[in-house]
Formats: sequence, C-alpha cells, structure tokens
Amino acid sequence: MKEKKDKMPSFLDKVSSVIKDTKRWIFHGAQSVTKEEFMRRARICNECPHFIHKSNTCGICGCWMEVKAKWKTSECPKRKWGNEADSKFYKSEKN
Ligand code: SF4
Repeated sequence: MKEKKDKMPSFLDKVSSVIKDTKRWIFHGAQSVTKEEFMRRARICNECPHFIHKSNTCGICGCWMEVKAKWKTSECPKRKWGNEADSKFYKSEKN
C-alpha cells in the first residue's frame, strides 16, 4: 500500500500561518518555552509522520519547526503539543 503524502501548504497558506502565529506570539509577550520543553516538542515532531526532515518543516502548516517549537504560544496543528495538548499532557501526568 502506498504511503499517503501530505498536501503541502501553498506559499500563501504558509505566509498566512506565519503572520497569524507571529501576531499571537507578540500579543502574548513574545515568550519562549524552556529548553526542555523545546526539546520535548522537537522529539514529538521528529517522530511525527508529517515532519519533513529535509527542510525541518511541518507538512501540515509548513512552519519551520526550529522557530515554531520555541514560541510559547505555538500549537501543533494535529494537537500533539501546544497549549491544549500540553494541558492534556500535564493532566495525564498527574493521574
Ligand atoms: S507540528 Fe505537529 S503535525 Fe507538525 S510535524 Fe510537529 S508534531 Fe507533526
């Protein structure tokens, strides 16, 4: 069976995504995550089937993960990490 490839976001989709993420990041104080949290996010992306290793980008949103994973306000489009995913992650850690 052939592996289904992601439909790469268009250039305009990428620009729109970057503008939206940058505005939200600046509006919330331009904060970065800790090095440990960045490494956790990077590990999740590295194991994700949507991650494009050659360009270090996400195949869903087209973002460059070296930057996106450092921003506190960033979220994975598949909810694998980020504000909502992390709250679930931390809840499951407590249980
Ligand atoms: S941001 Fe999410 S969907 Fe994109 S590569 Fe990382 S884990 Fe996968």
